[in-house]
Parts: sequence; structure tokens; C-alpha cells
Amino acid sequence: MITTEEPVNTGSSSKINLLGLPKRKLEQFFAELGEKPFRAAQVLKWIHQRGVVDFAEMSDLSKALREKLAQVAEIRIPEVEIEQKSRDGTMKWVLRLDSGNSVEMVYIPEAERINLDDVGDGYVDPRRAKYTDGLSRATLCVSSQVGCALACTFCSTGRQGFNRNMSAAEIVAQLFMAEHRLVEKSLPSDRKISNVVFMGMGEPLLNFEAVVDAAEIMMEDNAYGLSKRRVTVSTSGVVPAMARLQERVDVSLAVSLHAPTDSLRDVLVPLNQKYPLKELMAACDTYAPNAPAAFITYEYVMLADVNDSDQHADDLIRLLRGRAAKVNLIPFNPFPESGYTRSSNVRIDRFMRRLEAAGITTVPRRTRGDDIDAACGQLVGEVEDRARRGERLERMNLRPTA
Ligand code: SAH
Ligand code: SF4
Repeated sequence: MITTEEPVNTGSSSKINLLGLPKRKLEQFFAELGEKPFRAAQVLKWIHQRGVVDFAEMSDLSKALREKLAQVAEIRIPEVEIEQKSRDGTMKWVLRLDSGNSVEMVYIPEAERINLDDVGDGYVDPRRAKYTDGLSRATLCVSSQVGCALACTFCSTGRQGFNRNMSAAEIVAQLFMAEHRLVEKSLPSDRKISNVVFMGMGEPLLNFEAVVDAAEIMMEDNAYGLSKRRVTVSTSGVVPAMARLQERVDVSLAVSLHAPTDSLRDVLVPLNQKYPLKELMAACDTYAPNAPAAFITYEYVMLADVNDSDQHADDLIRLLRGRAAKVNLIPFNPFPESGYTRSSNVRIDRFMRRLEAAGITTVPRRTRGDDIDAACGQLVGEVEDRARRGERLERMNLRPTA
């Protein structure tokens, strides 16, 4: 039987879930079955391009191999527990994993508009040539962990605490399900999803191997073939893992900054107490030159009267000036007992203009799926008690912040 660095299957079944094996691991799997490596490309195409989960349908494999595969392997996807559709087309699903845990994913269709990402350096995605009207891109926001240990104070997932890592199969299953089962009509091309962001539940860089495997499958030509500019890993700043990520897989990086100074970031993103801004920015500077579009996206959640003043904008300008940076201003998505409110649109606009005037590309994100609480982690709910949060911070060697 195949041995991988991580258990690929988390359910009670002893069969290996092929959904989570990137090409190199699938080749190893077939080698161990005494089969030729090209079987990997064939099976990747059946699963990820055609959405087939029954080995019996894989007609270019011999009958004997199909039977063998049915004995030792499976292609298993989670069940949909809840499906919600917003007035603006955003969709959200709660998926039930084998272990009984729930995670969320969100589908965000976007109408045609000039996308500075795609024209900024003369790069035009060939697939865009086909887009005449309707949607220009459709982004899937995927989860990488059940819960999160990092306890950012404005984050619903962070309030729930950490439960477990997701397997690569569970991470890829989200794209598989959106592409082949859940999204009906989407892009003018024959694809449903054009972009994937690891901005759902969990901290991707604390589930490193599974996230690397999943990203590889998303970008693999025989699977989803997404370009490196269209797969974005978002991190709250797990500094040592940032360089390691770049060594392993060529993906775009978003860094959740949310505050321009250590004193404020220590509170909003407690991980900052372990990896302060100086170390984080140094890691970003190492990543940026070789990043897919040679810049890093900095996420900044707009919290009324917390991080949204002119002074904060000026501090942020000082921090980012001269860096290969793009800033996304995210309107805070409120949830019960968060203790925060969203900055007004006037405030967000003023903050954006200040950054733009200093030459920093700034994109205010529209709120999407407001009516369905589409910020990941909010539907799974179950706000955990403060005691558990305190324990978690202790385990991380951090002081509780509030
Ligand atoms: N753990 C990773 C990725 C998942 S969170 C990270 O923190 O980057 C994805 C993004 O959603 C992050 O930028 C996070 O700060 C943001 N976010 C979390 N809670 C939010 C909320 N209530 N409203 C708006 N954005 C939120
Ligand atoms: Fe975890 Fe990201 Fe939420 Fe922070 S913002 S608690 S790192 S999921």
C-alpha cells in the first residue's frame, strides 16, 4: 500500500481517497500497484476534468485495473449540509466531513470589468479572450482547517477554536464539488471556477503538506489547470512557512495585515506577538520578487474606529511604501458578539484615496453575500467560550489579548 507523509483519508474507510493525490503521489501509487506512471494522468483527468467518481466508468483503464482500484481506492466527497444562495449570486455551502465536522466554502461570481491584475504588466489571461459578457471570473473560497487556532479577534472561525486539519482530499473536494456538482452555469468558457482563494476557515500555512498537495492539484494541467495567478494562499503571517511554501509550489500570496503597527496587530492578530511586523515584512520581501505577479496582496479588514483612521492609513503607507504591494480593503463582516462594527463606506473610501494618493494600489472589496453571512466561518457558528481561547493562546506561547 502507498505510504504518504500524511494520512490521505480521514474517514473510517481504509481505502485511499485519490481525490487528494497530486500527480507525483498518484504516480507513486500506481508504481506500487505495478502500473505505468501514465495511469496517473489518465486518472487525474477522469476525476478532476470529467468529475467521474466510479472507477467502472474509466474506460481507458483495463477491466482488471478498474477492479483493483475499486478494492483499494475510492473517490470520496463530503456531503452538503446546507446550501445558501445570496441575491447577488454568491453561494455558500456547509460541507459535512467524514468525522462529523463541518466546514464552509463560498462561491463568488463576478461580472465583467477591467481587471487590473490581468493587464497591469501586460499579461492577459488567454481564457479572458472568450469572455464577452456575463461573468469574467468566478472565485471559490476554500477552507483548509476545521476551525483555527490563531484567534484573530474579528474572525468568527478564530472564535470557534481549532478542531483539526483538513486532508488534501477534503480541500480539493471543495473545488471538485463546485466544478462538477454544485455550480450550474458560470463562465462563458466551459469551466465553472476560474480562481481559488484559501480564505475560508483555517490557516493554510499551519496545514502545510495538505495545502501544498491541494494547490498542486488545482494547478495541474491534467486536473483543473488553474494558473499560478489564480490560486491564492492567504496567511495571517506564519513567517517560517512562507519561504517553504514558495519552495514547494508557485502560488499567489495574500497576507492578512489588518494593522500597520505591532501594538494594534498584537491585539487583532495575536500571532503577531510571535512573528512581529518586522519579521513578517521581511518574509514578504523575500516572497514578492518571485511571486506569480511579483507582488503580495495585503488584506486589511475595515473595523470602525479600530484601524480605519487617517493616522492608520498614514502608518500603513509608511509600512508599504516601496514594497511590491496591493492592498485589499475588506469591509468587516459582522457576526454576533464580535464587538466590532464595519467602517462606513465614506471611511473606506477616504482610507483608499489616501493610500492611492501615496501610490499604493488599493482595491476596496465589495461586500458580497451579506444576506447569507458569506464570510467563512460564520455559519458554522458556535461561538466558543473565553476559557478555551485563553488556553489556546497559552499553548501557542502567547498572552491572551483581551
Ligand atoms: N487564516 C488565513 C486565511 C483565512 S481568513 C488568514 O487569516 O489570512 C481569510 C481572510 O478573511 C483574512 O484576511 C481574514 O482576516 C478575513 N476575515 C476574517 N474574519 C473576517 C470578518 N469577520 N470580516 C471580514 N474579513 C474577515
Ligand atoms: Fe484564523 Fe485567518 Fe480567522 Fe485569523 S483570520 S483566526 S488566521 S482563519
